[in-house]
Parts: sequence; structure tokens; C-alpha cells
Amino acid sequence: MFTSPYADVEIPETTLYEYLFGGLSIDDLDRVALVDGASGEETSYGKLVGQIDATAGWLAEQGVGPDTMLGLFCPNIPAFAVVFHGTLRAGAAITTVNALYTAEEVGRQLADSGATWLFTISPFLKRAEAAAQAAGIPAGRIVVLDGGDPAVAAGHPSLTDVLQAGLPAPRLSVDPHAAAVVPYSSGTSGTPKGVMLSQYNLVANVAQARAFFRVTPDDVVLAVLPFFHIYGLTVLLNLALGERARLVTMPKFDLAEFLRITQDHRCTYLFIAPPIAVALAKHPLVDRYDLSSVRVVLSGAAPLDGGLGHAVASRLGCTVLQGYGMTELSPVSHAIPRDDSGNIPLDSVGYTVPNTQCKLLDIATDEEIEVPAEGASAPGQLLVRGPQVMLGYLNRPDATAAMIDPDGFLRTGDIATVTADGVVTIVDRLKELIKYKGYQIAPAELEALLLTHPRIADAAVIGVRTDDREEVPKAFVVRQGAAELGDDDVMEFVAARVAPFKRIRSVEFVEVIPKSASGKILRRELRARTAAAPKA
Ligand code: ATP
Ligand code: MG
Repeated sequence: MFTSPYADVEIPETTLYEYLFGGLSIDDLDRVALVDGASGEETSYGKLVGQIDATAGWLAEQGVGPDTMLGLFCPNIPAFAVVFHGTLRAGAAITTVNALYTAEEVGRQLADSGATWLFTISPFLKRAEAAAQAAGIPAGRIVVLDGGDPAVAAGHPSLTDVLQAGLPAPRLSVDPHAAAVVPYSSGTSGTPKGVMLSQYNLVANVAQARAFFRVTPDDVVLAVLPFFHIYGLTVLLNLALGERARLVTMPKFDLAEFLRITQDHRCTYLFIAPPIAVALAKHPLVDRYDLSSVRVVLSGAAPLDGGLGHAVASRLGCTVLQGYGMTELSPVSHAIPRDDSGNIPLDSVGYTVPNTQCKLLDIATDEEIEVPAEGASAPGQLLVRGPQVMLGYLNRPDATAAMIDPDGFLRTGDIATVTADGVVTIVDRLKELIKYKGYQIAPAELEALLLTHPRIADAAVIGVRTDDREEVPKAFVVRQGAAELGDDDVMEFVAARVAPFKRIRSVEFVEVIPKSASGKILRRELRARTAAAPKA
């Protein structure tokens, strides 16, 4: 077993609202909490808390309380924070829905989570109405966040109505250990699962991550990662606001807009996922903007290669860090601390956060792997125990039991190593490892290598079956601009740099690598495409 080299932090038994906003000082009230990146409109901490309270008051008057589940289907805009915290303040539970979902997918999540209310924005109204109907939510319970204008709200209550009612927040005692937030996992390995997190889980993870991320009131934090996914939810909506930073929201990723907002709002702290790191390291557009305000870039959600991270650090002249987590862990369990002075390799995910225990289990035998006295351990499946571990999967007791062992350790499904100093490196997902003649190949390693090629803009690797039932690596490659690059160039480049068993055996050139909103390569889609393609 190994733990954090950092001392435990205090985790109060309290609600998220109390933890984040209970200590708001008079000086804080006028500070800017949220800036709408598109319009530049600002919301102060005082106004934000007033709107949260009014939303809680209105919801309580509608009978919303501890047994109610509310759906929030909305991109990153300031009103997201109002509804999210207002719902918890009313003692109710909330499920956050992926903004890219189709009406069917939204409907499925609303039904699965038992949501009886839906908050959305007018551009999403068509999908929201269809989904609500499928889930049996009446039109009067679809609240439109931008719908001050009756024509926009189309017969639904609007956030303006909610706020204008001006009702005080209800006085109630909320159990911080009850299921309160139900985000869904990204669906990388199968159907997304509803993950039950308590307010205590979320308070704990903010308390744990603070010590590592060190966001300050002087930071301007760019909120491009979706709030509906656990990474953006905890790190942006909770941690950054709890630290009284200024949060600049972006409804969806667009490179030029991302660079413009970073420049114009003088953003200092960027939380990103690897696809944005690829763009920051390689895209020509980056040179056209003044990004000198950026101090820290923290990448999480998928593997960041050290070389790529260093390329971002030198191009932007900033510190680059990596963190690791999963929805089931609220999400953070590992990160490179902000005050590390470059001792921890950027290939790694740094140290275990405070109040957390880990172990590694042998992939074949499930035997615990010893932490060596020096150097790095053998790779094994990472298990994590701590106050950030979910209550369980919603409606899936069997899946929960398979995931959390009787001692409370959660099986991450990720392969990792740990050094004597406690530095953890993620190898890849157990399920993604390509098995070739008894060897194991991590797609992430080959993808990182491909990205070092100057004529490759992006890449992904999957295992494909050969006629003799072996699994071999196939690369999907996006050419850099109009660069000339053939199959052989790619295969020879890799062959010159890896052991023979790891060689890329086939190459397909594509326009883009499919990625999820949370920043993961959708290998499922690449696999489906390969399976559907006629044999050459
Ligand atoms: P699903 O569980 O539905 O298949 P998912 O696992 O992608 O989807 P998330 O909870 O969003 O859903 O992602 C957690 C996973 O992301 C981790 O288990 C791990 O595989 C990956 N991950 C997160 N951070 C890192 C990182 N820094 N390096 C490598 N992998 C990472
Ligand atoms: Mg997962």
C-alpha cells in the first residue's frame, strides 16, 4: 500500500454550499466570480450567491427537496453554476447531461436517473423537449435558463422568473453523505454509468485537490472543460469558485476562440485535456495570440505524454502539470503539485492526493505488488481508497460490488507503476492494452511517439486482429497541414524507435481523431469503423 507524501487535510462534514460559500467575506462580494467568455458579462460572488439562494428558494416552493432529481442539460455558461449550486442548496440531487447528446441519449439519462425536472438553454430546447417527453417530464418542469423573453422560453418557466420570485433559500439540514450529484462516466469503455457522489465526496475532493493545484484569488481560470463532466465540475465549478478565482466560461471548444479568450481575459490557469495540449503544442494559430498571462496548464482526463507537455511549456513559457482521476473518484486521486520545481516527470501523474491510500495489483494474479525501496515498481492495476470514492453506481449494485472491494478500495481499471518516492505513472487502461504474442502494448505509448513526428498533427492507435488471431497495433493518423506522408513513413518512423513487437502494422489517414467532449480518444468508434470496413 502507498499513500500521499502530503499530510492529511481536514474534510469538514458539511454541505458543498457551506464549504465553498459559507465563509464569503464582505470583500469577496464584489469580486468577479464568473465571466461569460462570449459576451464578457460579469457576475460577482455576491450576485452569484444571491442567485443560488433565490433558485433554491424557488425550487423549494415547487416542492423540490431531498427526494428530487433534477437534470441539467447546458453548456458552460454562468447560469450553470447558479442551477447546480441552487439545486444542492435546496437539498435536491442533480444529474449533469453531456451537451453533445442526442435527444434519445438525454432521454435515457433522465429516465435512468429518475429526473423529474430539466434545466436547459433555448438552443437545446428541441432536444430537451423530446427527451423530457420520453422521460415523462411535463413542459412546465423544463426551465429555460436564457429565456427572459416569452418567445424564447416557449411556455416554459425561465431563470428570470425564478430569480424574480426572490424567495429566500429554505432552511433545512441536508445530509452531506446522501447521493447528491450523479454525473455519468464518459462511456469510453461501454455505456456511460450514473455515478452517485455525495456532497461530502465533492467537499473532500476540493479539499484534497486544493493543496496540489493552488488556485489563488488572483487567478483567472479558463472554464473550457465541460462542467457536466466531473473534471470541470470539481476543478472549475467547485475548486476555482471556492478559491475566489475568476472563472471565464466557454460553451464549447474552438481553438481560435479559446486562444482569443485566454489572451483577452488574461487567463492565468488553464485546465485542459490532452487534445487541447496537442493543439497548443502543434497548431500554427497559437503564435498569433499573446498568451503571456498563462502561468499554469494542467492536463487530465487522458494520458499526456511528457514530450508533448514540455512542448506546451516551452511554447507558452509556463508550468505544465498532469493530474489523474475518474468520475468514480470525484475525480482527483493523483496530480503533480503546482509547487513542484520540475522534479516530477511530466509523463507521470505525480503523487497521491492527501487522505488517500493506493495499491497496485498484478494484472494476471491480483496479488499486491510491492513498492520498491528504490526505482519504479512493476505495472499493476491501480486501486484507490479515500473520502472521494463514490457511493456507487446508480441502479447497478452488481457493477458497484465488482468495482469496490470489501476494504473500500476502488478498482480503477488503469495500469500504473509507482516509484519509491510515491510518483505514479499511468501506463494505459487495462482494457486498451493490445496483446501480441504474450506481450502487452500500450496504445498511449505509440500515440505519444507518433505525435513527435513533425508531419503528424494527431494520432490514435487501436489493436486489430490479424488472420492468425493475433492483435496488432493499427494507427489512425491526421497529417499536419498538407504534409506528404505515406503509410511506410509512419511505420518506419515507429519501427526505428520501438521494440519489434510494438511496431505499427497498418495505417489509415483520417481528417480528425474522434474524441469525446471530456477529451478522450473514442477508440470504440475507430474499432467500429475498422470492423465495418470491407477487407482489402
Ligand atoms: P467509462 O467508464 O464510461 O468507460 P471513462 O472511464 O472514460 O468512461 P471518466 O470517468 O471520464 O470515464 O474517465 C476516467 C478514466 O480516464 C480513467 O479511468 C483513465 O483511464 C483516464 N484518465 C484520466 N486521467 C488520466 C491521465 N492523466 N492519464 C491517463 N489516463 C487518464
Ligand atoms: Mg471509467
